[in-house]
Amino acid sequence: MTMGEKEVTTRGDFVLRLERGADVLPAIVDFCARRGITSGALRAIGAVESAKVGYYDLGAKKYEWVEYPEAMEAVSMTGNIAMVDSAPFIHAHVVLSDTKNNCIGGHLFSARVAVTLEIHLTAFNERINRTLDNDIGLKLLDV
Ligand code: ZN
Repeated sequence: MTMGEKEVTTRGDFVLRLERGADVLPAIVDFCARRGITSGALRAIGAVESAKVGYYDLGAKKYEWVEYPEAMEAVSMTGNIAMVDSAPFIHAHVVLSDTKNNCIGGHLFSARVAVTLEIHLTAFNERINRTLDNDIGLKLLDV
């Protein structure tokens, strides 16, 4: 099989504004848990600091992380929401830019809001789970 697929219907859209200092991924997880959101998609822009961004090394089955303590523009953050062990889980990637507008990017492990973070989140009606794929070493979307 080269593809998994699942048709989803949109429950609704939400606009979120995270305040300076907010822990980005836990804040979104808390929102999803509070609203009973079990799948969805999100995109965000703003500025973050203390970002930890990674690259997945398939051979080693682990992430290589780089930390960026300074405030950076969140040029683009995009991700999805699915359930892992009965809790919402956010899989997000980011492109961040520095004071010279140079960009880095990768898998977002953690970040704090440096100025604001403006999120547009689309919630789906259908539940989507993530389950461990032993060959890949990651919990993949179960669709
Ligand atoms: Zn990723």
